[in-house]
Amino acid sequence: LSGYVGFGNLPSQVYKKSVSNGFEFTLMVVGASGLGKSTLINSLFLSDIYSELPQINEVNIPKTTTIESTRVHIVENEINLTLNLVDTPGFADCIDNSNCWEPILSYIHDMYEDYFENESKVHRTLFEDRRVHCCLYFISPNGRGLKDLDITFMKVLHDKVNLIPIIAKADTFSYDELVRYKRLLLQDIRANSIKIYDFSYKCTLIDDKDISLNNKFIERLPFGVVGSNRVIEVDGKLIHGREYPWGIIDINNIEHCDFSLLKDVLIRYHMQNLKDLIHTKLYERFRAHKLDGNLS
Ligand code: GDP
Ligand code: MG
Repeated sequence: LSGYVGFGNLPSQVYKKSVSNGFEFTLMVVGASGLGKSTLINSLFLSDIYSELPQINEVNIPKTTTIESTRVHIVENEINLTLNLVDTPGFADCIDNSNCWEPILSYIHDMYEDYFENESKVHRTLFEDRRVHCCLYFISPNGRGLKDLDITFMKVLHDKVNLIPIIAKADTFSYDELVRYKRLLLQDIRANSIKIYDFSYKCTLIDDKDISLNNKFIERLPFGVVGSNRVIEVDGKLIHGREYPWGIIDINNIEHCDFSLLKDVLIRYHMQNLKDLIHTKLYERFRAHKLDGNLS
């Protein structure tokens, strides 16, 4: 099992745009505690960090208590990618959660502020873009739909970041249950006017094959993911997965869960779109507001 992430096989039009200057991308995870946020971040991008360790037990991830940002540099097929992975503390389910989104919101705001300051300097030098380009919102696999707190949280975030909803620990469901749960969640999302990332926005995907792939992404929303930091041997092959009395889930198998679709979305097909949308719409709104404020 290699640490290969796969963005080196970017679709050609994205490739051309990015190969010269490299990519910088920031991904944030948000949701209640215990839903597997830290595990997913590790499964997506940091697995190679652990690959030299013997993988007997799952890497034990300490409980996240502060907003933690990790920078990872990856080079594949001569493309440089700098990833900022922003892990956030989960909020609890029963104690007072009023304003528990505030630290997360101020993090997003501070990154916009930082970018704005850099951009406004008279002598601009190269600066890091740490704006949050995508936020994965983890929904509990309770089968009952969005909680009030989920609705509030997502509505606080949806004008500030590109929001992609995720069903956490999708291994809790059978295939049919997952399909039904997705339908229920989409209804809740619509009924509450929650704006999630628009997969058809200014789509750079041009040929039919890409369009049908993009439709597959849309069909599978909200993505049901399974995370794991464990490497399991199956028929002599090493896979990233989870083991159960009834069998094994290979998190990269799209018949088992949407993990690898999500990875494709983030790394290969929508990275540039997510960044464009932040720059031209969401950051632009922040900037306009800022300039307005400075004039009055
Ligand atoms: P966080 O609080 O959201 O960061 O959650 P963690 O990543 O710390 O995970 C909490 C627990 O759930 C750990 O024991 C993980 O091993 C477990 N876990 C993480 N992802 C999954 C998953 O997809 N399925 C199952 N069944 N357990 C998971
Ligand atoms: Mg955590």
